[in-house]
Amino acid sequence: MNSIHADKPAETVPRSAAPARPPNLLDYDLPALSAYFMELGAAGFRAQQVLHWVHRRGVLEFDEMTNLGKELRSRLRETVCLEPPVPAEVREAEDGVRKWRVSLSDGAVVETVLIPGPARTTLCLSTQAGCPLRCDFCATGRQGFTRNLSVGEIIGQFWLVLRELDAFGRVPGPISNVVMMGMGEPLLNLDAVLSVISLLRDDCFYGLARRRVTLSTAGVVPGIRRLAADRNPLRSCALAVSLHAARNELRDRLVPLNRSYPLERLIPACRDYAQARAGDSVTFEYTMLDGVNDSPRDAREVAELLHGLPAKINLIPFNSFPGAAYRRSPPAVLESFQRVLQRRGYQTTLRRTRGDSIAAACGQLTVASMRREQETIHA
Ligand code: SAH
Repeated sequence: MNSIHADKPAETVPRSAAPARPPNLLDYDLPALSAYFMELGAAGFRAQQVLHWVHRRGVLEFDEMTNLGKELRSRLRETVCLEPPVPAEVREAEDGVRKWRVSLSDGAVVETVLIPGPARTTLCLSTQAGCPLRCDFCATGRQGFTRNLSVGEIIGQFWLVLRELDAFGRVPGPISNVVMMGMGEPLLNLDAVLSVISLLRDDCFYGLARRRVTLSTAGVVPGIRRLAADRNPLRSCALAVSLHAARNELRDRLVPLNRSYPLERLIPACRDYAQARAGDSVTFEYTMLDGVNDSPRDAREVAELLHGLPAKINLIPFNSFPGAAYRRSPPAVLESFQRVLQRRGYQTTLRRTRGDSIAAACGQLTVASMRREQETIHA
């Protein structure tokens, strides 16, 4: 090709003139914002005031942050921004579950699910756009992986749902629990996730108790070990581990991550985690797949595997999606599986399926799901 630029060294070709984006304060937890404010020459405690306006009061305009002083406010206006992700679409199922499709600044889309109930209202957050783990029975994994979400894109999901509910300033707020069980693997985005947990837990901001924030992992062993070693009480939460099989040969197939972190590494990491948390129990999730992992023998193997661990077991009926190669275990099979575990002393609960009609149940979240559903509706 005879382009006149062909022989130019790359660095002399002018770069695109896109202006650098100013830092978004939603991406900061309290220690990070205090450090940043000190760099700007502002007192560190101003960080807490700003984050209180944002996360407790829902205020995004610096001019409304009346305890800040005019000079700091105009400095912030010039140097930083406050931009939550944008709700692109919301759907509500007849059981009250609501799912938001959330647009991120680069066009990536994630989903957030609100599950209201009499005893608690849970928000299910996504931590990555797509997911790299490709579990065989999960719709998200089939979509592939786009990228990690930033702190602001994760906490922003909570923020925008509170705003949609017009609930800023209400104490206690309407969302009592958070589960990181949306799209993505939280332990592969751990720095951001720990900052998000600290904002959720801090009484100055969302004020959720430790057991009301749950991180769910497919079993990223180094991440579990890092959580166990973290001594900052504001960054601690409840841990759930997606087990789905009690022998490697089957788990390798269902959760390919098992090939990197097999059960003989995963279970000791859970044991050490429980010990470091003074005997806190670990919840093991187990999606029940008809004829695959739901026999009485499978149940006995789970019981043996978890022996001596302070474990709770949460059985999840499989939620189907287009192209899925599995079926849900019949109710009688679910119940007998549950009985085997209960007889062996494990607290075992059966998760009620909710949000199924809007593809908002576990494992149904996808980048394209709403588009596809609508195509189906209009077909
Ligand atoms: N990556 C994390 C969190 C995401 S999913 C993890 O693996 O734990 C939350 C839970 O839903 C996991 O236990 C996951 O295995 C389960 N799940 C995924 N697809 C499902 C499906 N189609 N039906 C039922 N549960 C599913």
